[in-house]
Amino acid sequence: MTFSFDLAGKTALVTGANTGLGQGIAVALAQAGASIVAVGRSSMDETERLCREAGAAFHSVQADLSSLEPIERIVAEAVTLTGRIGILVNNAGIIRRADAIDFTEKDWDDVMNVNLKSTFFLSQAVARTMIADEQGGKIINIASLLSFQGGIRIPSYTASKSGLAGLTRLLACEWAAKGINVNAIAPGYFVTNNTEALRSDPKRSSEILGRIPAGRWGNPSDLGGAAVFLASPAANYIHGIVLPVDGGWLAR
Ligand code: NAP
Repeated sequence: MTFSFDLAGKTALVTGANTGLGQGIAVALAQAGASIVAVGRSSMDETERLCREAGAAFHSVQADLSSLEPIERIVAEAVTLTGRIGILVNNAGIIRRADAIDFTEKDWDDVMNVNLKSTFFLSQAVARTMIADEQGGKIINIASLLSFQGGIRIPSYTASKSGLAGLTRLLACEWAAKGINVNAIAPGYFVTNNTEALRSDPKRSSEILGRIPAGRWGNPSDLGGAAVFLASPAANYIHGIVLPVDGGWLAR
């Protein structure tokens, strides 16, 4: 028996693909043969260059995911450009840091809107197309260690990522029989804009590094293998998992 990790002929829609983990995932999916639709509010030029170097077709859709306004347009544009969406990676996300005692409603709502609300409604819009043509697909949510742990000074982020783990399981249960695999990846501590504040605080930075068994922070390319696996036919019977890619953090 053989297991295929080949994504040739598939289109992957990746949100927040201009930088960081989203860019790393888009490039890995491109290297595995997928066409890429990169969705976000910033220039996708660097990601386009990297995906084209991997031999992939590339399109971008400009959209701000802080509201639901662009959701239907994103899906319509992606389908017009590529025929169908076979893989959705919900990667776009933000974080706000403040003590829980001082946390504002705006920092709560802004984070929940991008990380959880837009993720749900984009998944719904894409799943409707996957169910309508009866070809199914793969949905991969980018969760966090804060899907398992509490953390400190990031109440809305922890709530959103813990909620995303639950949402991943719910959608897996509702859509598994319709040929859609819904899973999540929980990255550990990676070198991106998201962790800049932690890395520039010498005390927090060395505390974090000190408990990563692998002995280093992750690089965006470290996530690629997990994303390709969950997007591929090799994962056809995997539903509702939250897969840590964390250098061993949760094993500690
Ligand atoms: P990042 O470099 O800050 O990337 C975040 C991405 O989300 C960027 O592409 C950003 O676009 C996009 N985004 C944010 N708000 C958006 C909006 N309103 N509309 C459209 N796009 C928006 O951080 P990252 O680490 O790569 O984060 C990617 C995902 O991984 C996030 O969900 C994050 O929570 C998760 N994660 C990261 C780590 C880590 O250690 N880095 C660990 C666990 C989970 P702009 O560049 O235009 O702002």
